[in-house]
Amino acid sequence: MRIADLHCDALSKLDRDAKLEWSAPSGKGLDVTAESLANGNIGLQAFAIWVPTGTPKTPESVLRQAALFHDKILSAQGMRLVKNGADVEAVLGPDASERGALLALEGADALRGERWALRLLHRLGLRMLGLTWNEANWACDGIMEPRGAGLTKEGRSLVAECEALGILIDVSHLSEKGFWETAELARRPFLASHSNARALCPHPRNLTDDQIRALVAANGLIGITFVPFFLQSRRQAGIDDVLRHVEHICTLGGANHIAFGSDFDGIDTYTLGLAGPADYSALADALLARHAEPLVRGWLSGHARRFLTDNLK
Ligand SMILES: [Zn+2]
Repeated sequence: MRIADLHCDALSKLDRDAKLEWSAPSGKGLDVTAESLANGNIGLQAFAIWVPTGTPKTPESVLRQAALFHDKILSAQGMRLVKNGADVEAVLGPDASERGALLALEGADALRGERWALRLLHRLGLRMLGLTWNEANWACDGIMEPRGAGLTKEGRSLVAECEALGILIDVSHLSEKGFWETAELARRPFLASHSNARALCPHPRNLTDDQIRALVAANGLIGITFVPFFLQSRRQAGIDDVLRHVEHICTLGGANHIAFGSDFDGIDTYTLGLAGPADYSALADALLARHAEPLVRGWLSGHARRFLTDNLK
């Protein structure tokens, strides 16, 4: 069964540590490598550009990671840049043979409102953008910003420009106010690439039931994430906790809007049994033990395939 994964931070790690090698055997400092994607049968992996807090956020810092995406990840044999529906079919469709890499930006801070940088990134393959990470920036407040403000005027025009270019809006990390303003503003379906259900785990990064219903109503997508403290706040998280979040979203009418966004390489503690892309097979087995195969296929890649095919120009 081919897998789609909507979020990982391998690019940011590659940027910070020049010794890391994308094509090295898995387990050598990177969770997501050419080898681990093959071992996990990942058909499509989204790669987020993320500039860590405390480092200079300039267009150059983002473009350097975009260059790594092209130089290291896309240069590996059998990797295909995912820009449109035909690319999605080539990596997730029934005759898929290649693996797809989709370029995302986690936080627009470093663009500094420069539209040439956004358009250039789009030409380099950018197809998914989160307005901000946890803090406030020129576009919007993040969920950990105590002020809790929503989108700025510039942020609103960024959403419009992304939609015009065909860049999907990612609401993971947004403040609640930012989420609702985006939902109202968006003319296209949007997604939460790596967030869980707050009703089950009360971390602010997780989505409330109302937010989940709004994503479903907008024909959007929710990538359930393997970050242990977004799955379970009281004990070590395990694969069962992933199932609890899947099943909760199903009770809210979201069964056909669930996907996964692991956050591999963005975490340093792991959910038991989910230490890298190769472990998707264990998750698939656990899902199949409790749910019908067509639904499980949808969660593992079918819904991401439909969402991306429908919404990437
Ligand atoms: Zn994140």
